[in-house]
Amino acid sequence: MTASQADHSGRSAPDGAAYVAPRAPQIEGRDRTGDVILVCEHASNAMPPPWGDLGLTAEQREAHIAWDPGALGLMRGLARRLEATCIAATTSRLIYDCNRAPDMPGAMPARSEIHEIPGNAALTPAQRAQRSAALYVPFHDALHALIAERIALGRRPVILTIHSFTPVYFGTPRSVEFGVIHDADARLAQAIVAEAQARTGLKTGLNEPYSAADDVTHTLRLHATPYGLVNAMLEIRNDLIATPEAEAAMADTLAPVLAAAMATLTRRKDI
Ligand SMILES: [Zn+2]
Repeated sequence: MTASQADHSGRSAPDGAAYVAPRAPQIEGRDRTGDVILVCEHASNAMPPPWGDLGLTAEQREAHIAWDPGALGLMRGLARRLEATCIAATTSRLIYDCNRAPDMPGAMPARSEIHEIPGNAALTPAQRAQRSAALYVPFHDALHALIAERIALGRRPVILTIHSFTPVYFGTPRSVEFGVIHDADARLAQAIVAEAQARTGLKTGLNEPYSAADDVTHTLRLHATPYGLVNAMLEIRNDLIATPEAEAAMADTLAPVLAAAMATLTRRKDI
């Protein structure tokens, strides 16, 4: 037994919430020179031990309830094109949704869309604390470190979170293809929508298919708002980024849109 395991052995709780080592997020392009940080909280459908499959079928674990299909590949493509740093969660959002605070019901949901999540049905406070410590805290610590370093260097990073959404939700088809969501600061989201409408054929909507009222802007509120950093959340319909080639094509489409929107804000001296 290592010293660290011995140190933590006393933390085991009677309800099975034993200590779990923090699972670090994946960071790429740490040294890139662009002033954008891209964030993908729903990048992975991995369900590692000790949590396992939560009682879900293989089909459910591949579905959009477990992650945002295509979002990681799109984010990495955007990061390369924008010379940006990117950070991705490495565990399924059904085990812990890093875009939710630990006290939000959606952090470890007992139900997602039409699916019951058996492994989340009767979590104890100690089990919720264990997942928060192992998954949520290291993700946001790492993101905060990236932002704090840039701010210390006198830079003003732009924070963009990258998501995908299902074409059909609760049986209803969604018509929007590209949604741009804002929290308290609408400037960048409005500029991105204007550029997407001018430059692409994508059906683009502001605060579609969700809005901040749906509690989907936790990361932005936690990291961008306190520093006054320009920010937005991007949602791409997942059937448009269903293959590596489609992810790359979408990155080709959206990178100039994002660059133009940021240039607009720079001209206005908003960034
Ligand atoms: Zn998402």
